[in-house]
Amino acid sequence: MKIISNPLELKVYLAKQNKSIGFVPTMGALHDGHISLIKEAKKDNDFVVVSIFVNPTQFLKGEDLDKYPKKDEADKKICELSGVDVLFFPDAKDIYTNDEVSILAPIVRGYVLEGFSRPSHFNGVLTVVMKLLNMVNPTRAYFGKKDAQQLNLITLMVKQFFMSVEIVAVDTVRESDGLAKSSRNVYLSKGERRDALKISSSLYLGANLVSKNILDAQEIRKNILDALLGLEIFYVEILNRDFEKIEKVEVGNSIILVEAKVGKTRLLDNIWL
Ligand code: AMP
Repeated sequence: MKIISNPLELKVYLAKQNKSIGFVPTMGALHDGHISLIKEAKKDNDFVVVSIFVNPTQFLKGEDLDKYPKKDEADKKICELSGVDVLFFPDAKDIYTNDEVSILAPIVRGYVLEGFSRPSHFNGVLTVVMKLLNMVNPTRAYFGKKDAQQLNLITLMVKQFFMSVEIVAVDTVRESDGLAKSSRNVYLSKGERRDALKISSSLYLGANLVSKNILDAQEIRKNILDALLGLEIFYVEILNRDFEKIEKVEVGNSIILVEAKVGKTRLLDNIWL
């Protein structure tokens, strides 16, 4: 595995490969969710690139940028063992100058859900993803369904900017008890870890109602809110796959999304129905 930190070196090196490239952008502290993205990328492509970059522009003031978990050596080992060909490991100064062109998230879809409580978050996400995609120029790029709004906005950006990369959505990987794997789970104390389980359980409850043909979005939402009692809830929304509000769940075209705070940790989860 080759480790590169300079964007131009990366671009030149990858341009010489003449192979299909699968790209997995991450912020490190790798877990089974990231490994699942890498596996998908290996299945579909001749060459796999992973980036590890904790992108400062997607964190708002007072968020956990400085505390974000860092596991550089373990991450390198995981990438090596997973058969990654190139690990791109830049510094912020390799990616940003002090006077930057940036991508703006769309004013409707970028400012609801997570974008409502973190207003400039998706500007930072889309800008860094645009930069990374231009550096790597992959055939396919892999993103987790766990960050469903991020996936939706990146798919939109690629379409609206006529970019030629294929965006591949990968299923959420969970702990055996249902908690969605996340780099931020390390922040949870034992008690908080137990409380956090309410999030995935509430989503399973929603899916269970749908399986019993209870499709009314308000009714499902109310049941989910009840199941989340005790947590600070940012949102519970039932949307179609285009992220529009719906009154009735349409199986095959709906998502239930939850964001809640457990202790000081914001946790996102969703279920695709
Ligand atoms: P992050 O390092 O948290 O920015 O995540 C990098 C990529 O991994 C994003 O596309 C995430 O959606 C994806 N990801 C994070 N957690 C999971 C998970 N539990 N299952 C599948 N993909 C995930």
